[in-house]
Amino acid sequence: MSPKPKKDETKEIEPPAGSALPKGMKIYPIVKYGDPVLEQQTRNVETFDDEMRQLCADMFISMYAAQGVGLAAPQIGVGLRLAVIDTTVGKNPDGKIVIANPDIIAAEGEQREDEGCLSLPGFRGNVPRPLFVTIRAQDAFGNSFEVRGENLLARAFCHEIDHLNGTLFIQHLSLLKRDLIRRRIRKLRKTGEW
Ligand SMILES: [Zn+2]
Repeated sequence: MSPKPKKDETKEIEPPAGSALPKGMKIYPIVKYGDPVLEQQTRNVETFDDEMRQLCADMFISMYAAQGVGLAAPQIGVGLRLAVIDTTVGKNPDGKIVIANPDIIAAEGEQREDEGCLSLPGFRGNVPRPLFVTIRAQDAFGNSFEVRGENLLARAFCHEIDHLNGTLFIQHLSLLKRDLIRRRIRKLRKTGEW
């Protein structure tokens, strides 16, 4: 998920140069809307090994490089039920959450905010979401945990879990708004800008 853009921050952010990355880390390019991987069901994470933890670390780096607050595995072309979230955008190490095989177990209230997605850069839409969301998931070591989020964190849980079910935020918009976005993307694709 992408946070609200700040003024004058709409231009593409250059990812840090490869040399600045810790050894072995990788910034994945983010898959854009139109790639079928974004609309497919994912399979459960079954192995919680070093390779899986490396994938999580790379997903955090890729998310920060794109200035996002959430990134789901399908967005880097990996069909796993896995996402990373950090609503502090790297400012607080305690804000980092790995969710493997997550399920929403409780939701309360409602919030309406504009929502964006790293796979749909430049597009936003007003999506109603619960104000409080409790999820059950596994961490990068396979340990089960439950966590309750509110506001942006609740929204991020919903947005990322949607990704794991092949759903994008535009599917929550009116048909009219969704078609408008689709048409604009089709135009961008024709000119090679998408
Ligand atoms: Zn997204």
